[in-house]
Amino acid sequence: MIYDAIIIGDGPAGISAALYTIRANMKTLILGLGDSVLKKALKVENYYGFSEPVSGEKLINEGEAQLKRLGGVILKEEVIGIEKEDVFHVKTVNNTYTAHSVLIATGQKPVNIKIQNLKRFEGKGISYCTTCDGFFYRGKKVGVLGFKDFALHEAKELLSFTDDITIFTNGEKTDFTEESLVGKFEINKKLISAFEGEEFIEKIVFEDGSEIPVDGIFIAYGTASSINFALKMGILTKEQAIVANSNQETNIPGLYAAGDCTGVFKQIAVAVGQGAIAGKNMIEYVRSLRKQG
Ligand SMILES: Cc1cc2nc3c(=O)[nH]c(=O)nc-3n(C[C@H](O)[C@H](O)[C@H](O)COP(=O)(O)OP(=O)(O)OC[C@H]3O[C@@H](n4cnc5c(N)ncnc54)[C@H](O)[C@@H]3O)c2cc1C
Repeated sequence: MIYDAIIIGDGPAGISAALYTIRANMKTLILGLGDSVLKKALKVENYYGFSEPVSGEKLINEGEAQLKRLGGVILKEEVIGIEKEDVFHVKTVNNTYTAHSVLIATGQKPVNIKIQNLKRFEGKGISYCTTCDGFFYRGKKVGVLGFKDFALHEAKELLSFTDDITIFTNGEKTDFTEESLVGKFEINKKLISAFEGEEFIEKIVFEDGSEIPVDGIFIAYGTASSINFALKMGILTKEQAIVANSNQETNIPGLYAAGDCTGVFKQIAVAVGQGAIAGKNMIEYVRSLRKQG
C-alpha cells in the first residue's frame, strides 16, 4: 500500500501536520518514538489557549488523543532511513513503508558526545553518513559509534565495503532489537576518552588507557536524526538543521520538514504552525500528483 503522507515524528509538529492530512482524507501514517522533548516541560504558559500553566506531558497526551479521535494511527517505530525513487521508501528497524510525500518532524535532541577530538577529525576519518563515505573504507578497519538499532543498521550498511567492523558503545548499554544482526559485529563497550591521529584519525584511546587502531569512525549515536536523513538524501542543511522554505518544502520535491529540526525558534507554537503549513502543502502536492494521473 502507498500512503499519501508519512509523517516522521510524533511531537507537536508531526501531530499538527497529521491533523490536517487526515482531515483532508489522505492516507496518513505517523511513525514516532513517543519521546518529544516537550515531555520535559513541567509548566508551559506561553502556548495559546490555556489560562493556567499546563505540563508538556499533558499537551502531548491531548494531541495524541485528538489525533486518535480523528482516526490517526501512530506506529512506535524508529525510522532509520528514507530513500526516494518515484515514491518515498521510509525504512524502520523492521519494516519499509511507501508514500507519495514525507514530513520530517523529528525534533532536534541535543546529542552530547564527550570524546576529545571528535570535531577535529570530522571529515578526516569521522563520518556521519555510511551511504556517502562507506566507499572510502573498502577493506579497512572501521568503527560505528552507537548503541541502538541505528548503529546496527549503519554497521550493516558498511558490510558492503568491509567486514572489519566494531560497534563502540562508549560505555552505553546496548539497546538492539535486531537480534539476527548482533552476532555479525564485534561490540566494544568501553568508555572512550579520545580519538587520536596526525592529519586523519588513527586510533581510539579508552578511559582505561588502552588503545585500538581504526581507519574510520561512523557516528550513529542514539536515534537516527533529521541530520542523518539529510546527509544520506542530499537534503540541504544549515547549522545542523534542515533548510525548509516558507511552505516547509525541502529541496527534494514531496519532502517537507517542520518543527525544531528546521532550527527555527524552538517553541511549540512554531512547531504546530510549521506542521500545519507542511500538512496543507503535502495535501496540495499529493492532489497535484493525482491530477497528473
Ligand atoms: C525542558 C523543555 C521545556 C520547554 N518548554 C517550552 C515552553 O514552555 N514553551 C514552548 O513553546 N516550548 C517549550 N519547549 C520547546 C518545545 O518542547 C519544542 O519546541 C517542541 O516540542 C518541538 O516540537 P517537534 O515536534 O519539532 O519536536 P519534538 O517535540 O522533539 O518531537 C519529535 C518527535 O520525533 C520522534 N522521533 C525522533 N527521531 C525519530 C526517528 N528516527 N524515528 C521516529 N520518530 C522519531 C520523537 O520520538 C519525538 O516524539 C521546551 C523544551 C524543553 C526541552
